[in-house]
Amino acid sequence: MVRRDDRARKKKKKARDSSLRLRRKKTCYCCENQVLLIDYKDEKLLGRFVSDRGKIVPRRISGACARHQRGVAAAVKRSRSLGILPYVAEQVQ
Ligand SMILES: [Zn+2]
Repeated sequence: MVRRDDRARKKKKKARDSSLRLRRKKTCYCCENQVLLIDYKDEKLLGRFVSDRGKIVPRRISGACARHQRGVAAAVKRSRSLGILPYVAEQVQ
């Protein structure tokens, strides 16, 4: 019984620790580098906001501000239609 209690306590502590872990404040890459207009031809810039599977990375992960995320999403979609960025990236085995 004692052992069981110990294990339960340990588990609880672990969960609390992970929720308390400090998070670094994300800043918008475009705001930092003063990108005024997101160019749909700028593959390098758009690549930062696209996952390796070709999906647009959500704001909570990319850290982009609302304004720039909107611009990025539009630019990614535009460049996809022009064949600059893929709709779906090749599957990596
Ligand atoms: Zn921004």
